[in-house]
Amino acid sequence: MIGAVAAGLTVAGLAAHGTWHRNSWIFGPVLNHLPTDDVSITFDDGPNPDATPLILDVLKREGVRATFFVLGRHADRWPALVKRMADEGHQIGNHGYFHRKLHRRTPAYVRDDLTRGVEAIERACGVRPRVFRAPHGFRNPWVTPIARSLGERTIGWSLGVWDSARPGADEIVRRSLTGMRAGSILLLHDGDGYDDAGDRMQTAAALPGIIGGLRDRGFEFAVLPE
Ligand SMILES: [Zn+2]
Repeated sequence: MIGAVAAGLTVAGLAAHGTWHRNSWIFGPVLNHLPTDDVSITFDDGPNPDATPLILDVLKREGVRATFFVLGRHADRWPALVKRMADEGHQIGNHGYFHRKLHRRTPAYVRDDLTRGVEAIERACGVRPRVFRAPHGFRNPWVTPIARSLGERTIGWSLGVWDSARPGADEIVRRSLTGMRAGSILLLHDGDGYDDAGDRMQTAAALPGIIGGLRDRGFEFAVLPE
């Protein structure tokens, strides 16, 4: 009896771990680190009409390819920006459509949200995304299998710098340069998952300093393996 209770608690604990720790393998494999010594810059929740064009300008000037985990409803609203991402050689990832946390949603809800995200991206730029990142990284046992059934690898991240809390561009640069290691995947935000007009200009302003600082340390930039 005690053993069964302990086993039950262990299962519950593992389930909570899988839900709340984005890099947990409990709910299926998630890539949170590159298999090489390169580094990867990723942006979630865009496109955003103010920040995304500036970010694309910086990436073009610096010759860096990044990954954009596009939010489907933002792709429907600003499709030309998604097209520009693809045209300029960036990797397009699926971030779902509505940006609801998925860990308490049914398989039908998850499949619908991810499928809508794929369709919005395809409408905008003709590219079928091969990588997926869950909103806030929150998953349950069926999120990763459903993403895989859509041809998408589930991606986490190595370093989040809370740029969406707008601590100042210099602080975003400092946190990024302090935390990045060989193989790290950096999470930034070019949009706001809840407020379409959310301000991500600090992230855009920080990007040249992040790229320059990482280059000074000898890193090269890569997109995610699909
Ligand atoms: Zn998000």
